[in-house]
Amino acid sequence: MIVVMKPDATPAQIEHMSAHIVSLGLSPQVIQGTHQTVIAALGEERPGLIEALEPGDGVEKVLPIMAPYKRASSELKRERTVVQARGLIVGGVKVAMIAGPCSVESEEQIVSLAKTLKGLGATGLRGGAFKPRTSPYSFQGHKELGLKMLATARAETGLAIVTEVMAPEHVPMMAEYADVLQIGARNMQNYQLLQAVGDSGKPALLKRGMSATIEEFLLAAEYILDRGNPNVMLCERGIRTFEDHTRFTLPLATVPYLNEKSHLPVVVDPSHGTGKARLVPAMARAAIAAGADALMLEVHDDPEHAVSDGSQTITPAVFKQVMDECRRIAHAVDRTL
Ligand code: PEP
Ligand code: MN
Repeated sequence: MIVVMKPDATPAQIEHMSAHIVSLGLSPQVIQGTHQTVIAALGEERPGLIEALEPGDGVEKVLPIMAPYKRASSELKRERTVVQARGLIVGGVKVAMIAGPCSVESEEQIVSLAKTLKGLGATGLRGGAFKPRTSPYSFQGHKELGLKMLATARAETGLAIVTEVMAPEHVPMMAEYADVLQIGARNMQNYQLLQAVGDSGKPALLKRGMSATIEEFLLAAEYILDRGNPNVMLCERGIRTFEDHTRFTLPLATVPYLNEKSHLPVVVDPSHGTGKARLVPAMARAAIAAGADALMLEVHDDPEHAVSDGSQTITPAVFKQVMDECRRIAHAVDRTL
């Protein structure tokens, strides 16, 4: 439910309504607008709530939140959420670039690549230290050692570190190294992991599960938000379809749809979305034209010899070209890059 308070409602009336919401078994969230205050009453909606809330002093009206995801919904919060981790700002006028290898391979690799990417305009450095690989025989990542390599790259460049967390019990350790905790497609519905990332308060980059509907995606985000962590970015990374000319199908209509249904910033990953490096620049441009707040791109000095996802990974030279082209697209849609 959304309890819209009158423009002249007093702090005492707002406090009284919050206590009333608690007494109804719901949890109140006060949102101070420029003109009016609204109180979200979150929890299971049931008949009789409007009647119980509407007569309250200072209440203008009570509206149901129609979406099953409440905190993620634009019905609850109209202003766009901006997530910030160091110099990585996602959700403002400026489009952000998160770039780096699929896996962290060595300290020399990640530090030298980070310097190149920073010079070309990236503000986030991606790189997996814990890798969710389809086969148990594939490289599983350097784990904590990989996190230390990322921390060195950050110390040298100031880039914000975006790296995947795979297990709830790893969250406190990962939070010491990472600036953004990535939740991978395969873990989008790992509810204990979502809650642990919520509890950490760290910015989260939630990837869409490859077979998840948008409603399931937003409900997964709701798990993080519900633990009091508002710093959630939604990442479209492609879904499974009958189509096999690309690794996944990258549905860019997700971007304007999410922008309509939610206030959370949207990131697009054209690398996993296509699985083919030569398709990445065009899909990067298209994502920005569609309204993405950030891109996540796999970049490697020598993609042919990358330990994972080489075929969808672009070189720094192509990344430079993508930056130049995307900057022009960004201007065309009233944004910067
Ligand atoms: C990744 O970013 O390297 C990754 C494993 O992504 P996803 O979870 O989208 O497959
Ligand atoms: Mn990858």
